[in-house]
Amino acid sequence: MTISKRTKAVHGGVRRSQYNEVSEAIFLTQGFVYDSAEAAEARFLKAGDDEFIYARYGNPTVRMFEERIAAIEGTEDGFATASGMAAVNGALTSMLRAGDHVVSSRALFGSCLYILEDVLTRFGVEVTFVDGTDLDQWKAAIRPDTKAVFFESMSNPTLEIVDIRAVSDLAHAVGATVIVDNVFSTPIWSDAVALGADVIVYSATKHMDGQGRALGGVILGTKEFIRKTVEPYLKHTGAALSPFSAWLMLKGLETMDLRVRAQTESARSIADALAGDAGLSRVIYPTLETHPQHDLCLSQMGGKGGTVLAFDCGSQEAAFKALNALEIVLISNNLGDAKSIATHPATTTHQRLSDEQKAILGITPGLIRLSVGLEDTADIVADLRGALAAI
Ligand SMILES: *Cc1c(COP(=O)(O)O)cnc(C)c1O
Repeated sequence: MTISKRTKAVHGGVRRSQYNEVSEAIFLTQGFVYDSAEAAEARFLKAGDDEFIYARYGNPTVRMFEERIAAIEGTEDGFATASGMAAVNGALTSMLRAGDHVVSSRALFGSCLYILEDVLTRFGVEVTFVDGTDLDQWKAAIRPDTKAVFFESMSNPTLEIVDIRAVSDLAHAVGATVIVDNVFSTPIWSDAVALGADVIVYSATKHMDGQGRALGGVILGTKEFIRKTVEPYLKHTGAALSPFSAWLMLKGLETMDLRVRAQTESARSIADALAGDAGLSRVIYPTLETHPQHDLCLSQMGGKGGTVLAFDCGSQEAAFKALNALEIVLISNNLGDAKSIATHPATTTHQRLSDEQKAILGITPGLIRLSVGLEDTADIVADLRGALAAI
């Protein structure tokens, strides 16, 4: 019987205690007791599937989360981390060494850019940045000695889409590992593994929790990569996910499909409503015909644009006026939350970038990013119209 993602999101990875509970238990424990000194020695030598040593290495609730999201994504295994950034850092740092070459798209979340531009290069890794939407640039940058390629399948905040299959084919031709930050595509709209990605990283903080409670992340890949490369690095460097947060994420996964579908439908309606607004110089959403990778959205994401959109009010002054006039949508910087959230990337999430870098990435002074929540779509449209009228 083939089981769909949606069913795996409810039943995947369950481990029951001797009480046979229905809802997953929180094993809020750092350590585990051994029956004898010999048993402790044996477990340190080789722990079995249901044997744990210390919560930094693994924990039953964390393991349930890892197995559930791996089942949904279609990878053999996964390793959970304390945040999305710990997942990005763990995936890259665990596999790279001085002298290695990495090619990365330039349109990245600020902290991802920091890891590639500042951290990896400090340890002697050479990084070449490309325009992720331009296959010729990928082709020119990937070399016989390239060890990994990294990109956000849909970029933050301008929603550029990278062709996962085409870039993976170029990378695999030289034996490079393809690492994809898939947050904006979400596990619901992306089949990154089928398209060729080797390693997928998520910030679980976003759609997996989906209710703004806890930080978390996960690295997904083959059993070999997760257990031989990622696990030794992460278990000794310490970015472990707490069992309580893992439990929040596990329960979040049960409703993720419903939430992401509803938020995506709403985002599309809001983008359509804003697209006709004469006061906005740009409305960015992948299903709009004006989006440069509209066709790729149709083929790679089944025509679904995700839960985030962006629009340009023309100037920082206008954007601030609009933000300050919002009555329902919150000014904050998370995304994927049940509550709609508006962000001014140029002065917050991407503040660190130079004006030149912002210009290259299309992060203009008037740009507002909107993460669409679970409110009534009509209320959000009315709130946005009121905010735009205030300009
Ligand atoms: C939020 C985000 C991250 C980082 O996740 P945290 O959980 O905040 O550490 C990484 N990549 C993308 C694309 C994100 O949106």
